[in-house]
Amino acid sequence: MQAAEVKIRGIVQGVGFRPFIHRLVREHGLKGTIRNTSSGVTMELEGEETAINAFLRELPRKAPPLAVIEEIRSREIPVRGFERFTIIGSERQEERNTLISPDIATCPDCLRELKDPTDRRYRFPFINCTNCGPRFTIIEDVPYDRPKTSMKAFPMCPECEREYHDIENRRYHAQPDCCPVCGPQVRFLNGDGEAVDGDAIELARRELKAGRIIAVKGLGGFHLACRSDDPAIAAELRRRKQRDEKPFAVMCRDAEAAGRICEITEAEEKILCGARRPIVLLKKKTGGLEHLSENAYLGVMLPYTPLHVLLFGDDIDTLVMTSANLSDTPILKDNEAALDELRGIADGFLLHNRLIQTRCDDSLCWVLDGHEYFSRRSRGYVPQPVTVPQLKRHILACGAEQKASFCAGKGEHAFLSQHIGDLKNLETLEHYEKQIRHFERLFDIHPELLVCDLHPDYLSTRYAQECAGKEQLPLIQVQHHHAHMASCMADNGLAGPCIGLIWDGTGLGTDGTSWGAECLVGGYSGFERTGSMLPIPLIGGDRAVKEPYRVAFSLLQAAGCETDGIREAERLKKQLTAGLNCPRSSGMGRLFDGVSAILGIKEVCNYEGQAAILLEAAAGESGEHFPVCFVPDEKENSLLRFDWRPMVRALVSERQNGTAIPILAAKFMNTLIEMAAEQAHFAAEATGLNRVVLSGGSFQNQYVMHHLPERLRAMGFEVFHHRRVSCNDEGLSLGQLMIAAEGNI
Ligand code: ZN
Ligand code: ZN
Ligand code: FE
Repeated sequence: MQAAEVKIRGIVQGVGFRPFIHRLVREHGLKGTIRNTSSGVTMELEGEETAINAFLRELPRKAPPLAVIEEIRSREIPVRGFERFTIIGSERQEERNTLISPDIATCPDCLRELKDPTDRRYRFPFINCTNCGPRFTIIEDVPYDRPKTSMKAFPMCPECEREYHDIENRRYHAQPDCCPVCGPQVRFLNGDGEAVDGDAIELARRELKAGRIIAVKGLGGFHLACRSDDPAIAAELRRRKQRDEKPFAVMCRDAEAAGRICEITEAEEKILCGARRPIVLLKKKTGGLEHLSENAYLGVMLPYTPLHVLLFGDDIDTLVMTSANLSDTPILKDNEAALDELRGIADGFLLHNRLIQTRCDDSLCWVLDGHEYFSRRSRGYVPQPVTVPQLKRHILACGAEQKASFCAGKGEHAFLSQHIGDLKNLETLEHYEKQIRHFERLFDIHPELLVCDLHPDYLSTRYAQECAGKEQLPLIQVQHHHAHMASCMADNGLAGPCIGLIWDGTGLGTDGTSWGAECLVGGYSGFERTGSMLPIPLIGGDRAVKEPYRVAFSLLQAAGCETDGIREAERLKKQLTAGLNCPRSSGMGRLFDGVSAILGIKEVCNYEGQAAILLEAAAGESGEHFPVCFVPDEKENSLLRFDWRPMVRALVSERQNGTAIPILAAKFMNTLIEMAAEQAHFAAEATGLNRVVLSGGSFQNQYVMHHLPERLRAMGFEVFHHRRVSCNDEGLSLGQLMIAAEGNI
């Protein structure tokens, strides 16, 4: 006979963990107790040594799907002689520290019941259990109990109550559980917002099949849905949503249906069909859905709520599913707002009366090395924290501006917010401020230190300054690309120092100019800039970001090439010569834009990053590259700048000699890869460092991400890319937090 105290850290509450332990303990004939604690659960176990060991071995392997076990620690304690195994009530005062599960797609058991005519939840659009269903999006406050969720409006019926209290039942302590007797209801409204009698889901299905655009209330917000196979319907949706060229995401009935329109690897299928259900960028098959995406990929997700499953039925394969919001405002989540703002856009509304407490967009990723590689980390992942070294103080990091997020940290946890959007929109800014308060309440975080970007005009910076002033808190401002670098380090659990290759659109440098193609060396405590590129004059400032032909002109002019082919060449020349509103930027995004325009791929952008995305889509394969030259910085000799002029000259002359665009696009990206390899080499020579982190929005580029790490590894570098947070500005707040935690800048 032996006794052990076992402490488990992670997401182990509200995920069916205690019933699971109850079963496992019984299987091994153990006795003792289990109770929830601030960081997880603590057990006292008594039994034969071999039985305790077998229990500990099986525990992580057999844990319920929603549980995230961060650590299991066990130690021997004196035998007390328990007679059975009991669940002890949780320590109320500590409950505020517990973790909250993200929203999880309908589990196989619930799907089976949903389709079983003899089950009492047959075709019930809100079926869920401890292993699946809404969590983050319905929680108002902690502790996570039904009265603190959107389900408070739906008292349990006796039958549900019985299941809730039965530890043998799959719905033991499932807070959002309900049934057709006691749960929420769906209804269908026509385009004028008038209720239509009949089976709401069948009505919506009929309208969708007939080619109408229907607003569907989902888990974290509304979607606009329509048929995917008819270009005219998609075009109508584009017209009504004023979304001219940006690709639409689709939802497919199952992996098989997705496989008919896209190539799917085994790793992609695993993530596509997993419990978190992000939108996964998959390679399009030719034929059929060209009208939904102008590049090589299509964003695909599978149904993640029972409502979606019923909407597809057996006969709908694929639907366009785009988040319902009007240009840059947050995704709509409330019935009234949807009815009001989607009037004239939606031909019908599939609504329900379960409140979405917290809006949460679909996550968006592609699959790199078998893992999610995010451009938007949101539903299904938030608010699961990133584990970090013990923080001495509570910290709030305020993020960037256009792809805003924040990160609230305490103890060993950094809680990154869901996708927020562009703060320049007033509703989005309000959403941001409200979410900060929500996270502070949920996780009991009282910031003692604030951190934000260097940029004085970012609305996140203004917010941080206001907060710091009001609450008399210290505020640290962190350089944008340093924060990117720190974010990737934290994402990979690196303490530093290392080499950072940071490519993005723009970020304010310590010298007051715009940076964005940086090679940095350092760690959380500081950095040195060892590589960049020659800055590009942006004729017209922000207009040049939207109109890449302006950048093309600057590149050609500086390289001494012909500029006659560029529109408005005369006017641009005058403006450039006069130096009128021509800020200089070394942003990698701008170089992509400019080259895209020179190659005639995209001269005016319709959405952010379009020129670069289409350049990538246009690229073929080539083993060659253009000349890679460097010049020392005028002021700082230790800073080598990539001189893109020889590259531009070579590109222009090869184009004139008839080299095809796909080859030129590939050679351009190969040149940047060589540039990065050289920069990393210089940095390693100077410092002896061997680790390279890759961060910044330009690393969303799949061509670069498939070739650059390989190139660096072949040189002997250890290469790290993002795995848990986005490489773009959405992941920035994690880096800010880590730099602030290090506390000396
Ligand atoms: Zn379930
Ligand atoms: Zn019920
Ligand atoms: Fe950035």
